[in-house]
Amino acid sequence: MSHHESHDTEVSHFIRDIIKEDLATGKHKSIATRFPPEPNGYLHIGHAKSICLNFGMAKEFSGTCNLRLDDTNPTKENTEYVESIKGDVRWLGFDWGDRLFFASDYFEKLYNYAEELIRMDKAYVCELSAEEIRAFRGTLTEPGKESPYRNRPTEESLDLFRRMRAGEFEDGKMVVRAKIDMSSPNITLRDPTIYRIRRAHHHRTGDTWCIYPMYDFAHCLSDALEGITHSLCTLEFENNRPLYEWFINQLDVPSHPRQIEFARLELTYTVMSKRKLLRLVEDGLVSGWDDPRMPTIAGMRRRGFTPAALRNFSERIGVAKRNSTVDVAMLEHALREDLNATTRRVMGVLDPIKVVIENYPEDAVEELDAPFHPEDESMGSRTLPFSRELYIERDDFMENPPKKFFRLSPGREVRLRYAYYITCKEVVKDEAGNIVELICTYDPESRGGTADGRKVKATLHWVSAKHAIRAEVRLYDRLFTTPAPEGDKEKDFTTFLNPDSLNVIEAYLEPSLASAAPEDRVQFERIGYFVADKIDMTSEKPVFNRIIGLRDTWARISSKEGA
Ligand code: ATP
Ligand code: MG
Repeated sequence: MSHHESHDTEVSHFIRDIIKEDLATGKHKSIATRFPPEPNGYLHIGHAKSICLNFGMAKEFSGTCNLRLDDTNPTKENTEYVESIKGDVRWLGFDWGDRLFFASDYFEKLYNYAEELIRMDKAYVCELSAEEIRAFRGTLTEPGKESPYRNRPTEESLDLFRRMRAGEFEDGKMVVRAKIDMSSPNITLRDPTIYRIRRAHHHRTGDTWCIYPMYDFAHCLSDALEGITHSLCTLEFENNRPLYEWFINQLDVPSHPRQIEFARLELTYTVMSKRKLLRLVEDGLVSGWDDPRMPTIAGMRRRGFTPAALRNFSERIGVAKRNSTVDVAMLEHALREDLNATTRRVMGVLDPIKVVIENYPEDAVEELDAPFHPEDESMGSRTLPFSRELYIERDDFMENPPKKFFRLSPGREVRLRYAYYITCKEVVKDEAGNIVELICTYDPESRGGTADGRKVKATLHWVSAKHAIRAEVRLYDRLFTTPAPEGDKEKDFTTFLNPDSLNVIEAYLEPSLASAAPEDRVQFERIGYFVADKIDMTSEKPVFNRIIGLRDTWARISSKEGA
């Protein structure tokens, strides 16, 4: 059996190439990756890229991928975030098996590694204040200055470090720093802090610790402890790579992972920083982390995105060494493509106008056969009740139509999908002149939507008035009005929030939708894709979210560019 299963959509990229090479040369017998989020917020579409890459590479090359929660900063982390992260990774279709880890599981080992560095005279306890440390660090053009504590005896540092752990000193009084090189052109190597005192309750270790390791120290050693072969991270860690290697080279660790950086995903019309997403939530600008307009995985799930769409998108955007912004239309294209193939077609009228068919018997009801998908018989069919009073979409009628309008108007005949041909005879208005109903006739010979030789130019969707279910429909749109909401240095990103990103309406839907389960996705014919809301959907009070409209701007753009 070959290690490597290939896919039609596979775009080769440098990380895949490195892994293939490492397996071919025998550098590794099998690969081990990890996805290492900090549980300080919900995951977003950028994380989805990293998840797909890490779990995807492991799967493709029959390796393993760990889910590791990088929980070294207790003040910002909590169990709600841990649980959401696990749920999101699973929903995306990945499985960490029994390989769920926490950096906090290694606190004792990390502490011992830090002691080891001190004993080797590669680390020391420093009592400079945070400001002094910053001032001593130097700049890109000036070397740093050595701390006066740098050359204190190792015994003294060791003793102070133990007393730090024992809680003898107040927060911020001293730190442990690696002893590397204060004049290194790479500032991250200028004696970085590796431990600090912080009396904070940790969501897993409680109050066991009052000192916590810094990210740069904890991360590489956690990788090494887990036997990670390829430690994939985003480009902003490129400068930290020498530090990553320094730690694992000094210490006697079980494995030597290789850090490889790739470009982070940025999307137009989207903010991705956790800090900004947190602000949207905390300031009540959205309804929560899972608001269907959020670029969080939880939000996208509630919006109706499919895991397959996100995985296909991640594969298609590829993995690059240089940052760039991806057009959100490309994500929407991947979504439509999957929804088009997988959703049932149903009918719903969002903005109704009543149609009365005057030659249809008062109390008759017919059950008309309607397939759920025009090309996919396996989706089956349902029957649609047809009766004398119907609703059609208000903008499918015009009293005085311009030349190019082919839908219903006085004297015009159109087809009702899966039903009959109808002709508009009369427009009924209220005192204010608003159209309240249309009097039409139907052709009994056109049942099923065909009549001998007679052509009509439009097919409309409709629902039977007395059988339709009323549903709350939430029409979502992009959260921001500008392609680069983070791009304006003068203006806060919230300035660009789209005031029309949510419109709640009451709609009339075909009766089969009353039994939709939460998260069922459908296409409302001619309108767009909708999902039964994950939280609020009930058969008594159905709630549907618009996932996305039908018109695909990306297909147009990419065909123009010949892409
Ligand atoms: P913060 O902004 O709080 O540092 P982060 O977005 O980097 O957060 P982490 O929890 O540290 O979040 O991320 C976990 C992993 O996901 C990291 O390996 C990180 O490199 C990767 N990642 C984060 N954002 C993106 C992105 N936009 N594109 C691709 N990968 C990302
Ligand atoms: Mg990060």
